[in-house]
Amino acid sequence: MNQQGILVVISGFSGAGKGTLMKALMEKYDNYALSVSATTRQPRAGEVDGREYFFVSQEHFKSMVENDALIEYAQYVENFYGTPKDYVEKQREAGKDVILEIEIQGALKIKKKFPETLLLFVMPPSAEELKRRLVSRGTEPLEVIEARLKRAAEEAVGIEAYDYIVINDTIDTCVEELHQLIQAQHNKTSNRLDFINEMRKGLSQL
Ligand code: 5GP
Repeated sequence: MNQQGILVVISGFSGAGKGTLMKALMEKYDNYALSVSATTRQPRAGEVDGREYFFVSQEHFKSMVENDALIEYAQYVENFYGTPKDYVEKQREAGKDVILEIEIQGALKIKKKFPETLLLFVMPPSAEELKRRLVSRGTEPLEVIEARLKRAAEEAVGIEAYDYIVINDTIDTCVEELHQLIQAQHNKTSNRLDFINEMRKGLSQL
């Protein structure tokens, strides 16, 4: 029986290395589908429309919200970000585990809508390391980095809502840990109700 894919949210402070981790996870395993969000933020150098994000105008984003085309959306620093519904549903039906790389407000909305979602939070080994990574990435001006560090401090307050934290020290180890946690989630009783019912039926017929 083709089991429906599960939903996995991965959050983490800006600069925690989520992008690199997701790329490595997708390259290593083919059972995951990474959702591409819509955003009103401007593309960074090297980002491609439809790959990292669907870069849309404020008006377009608003119309997606009005047409119920997003399963969740949130404002982050000064931009809007949202998860398109269509892709997530299709991939899950095809049996793929769908990964949403989103921030905490979105994560909590998803958990409320789909309680069986696995919520993972990626952390750098230390606060100093986070700042060092953000500065050395060199993609944002200093004031944006400062706004993101401030936001990280705010998000640190809500981390208890996540199922697991994963420390991103070495990429390979972290990818393996993410994979193991996702695989374990498949066998949560709440994700195996069909199998459990089949077993009950089988047992009653012995
Ligand atoms: P960035 O601008 O660095 O690409 O993303 C900023 C934040 O927005 C990150 O924490 C990222 O995970 C989050 N984000 C990206 N896409 C979505 C989305 O569709 N929904 C929500 N709620 N957050 C998102």
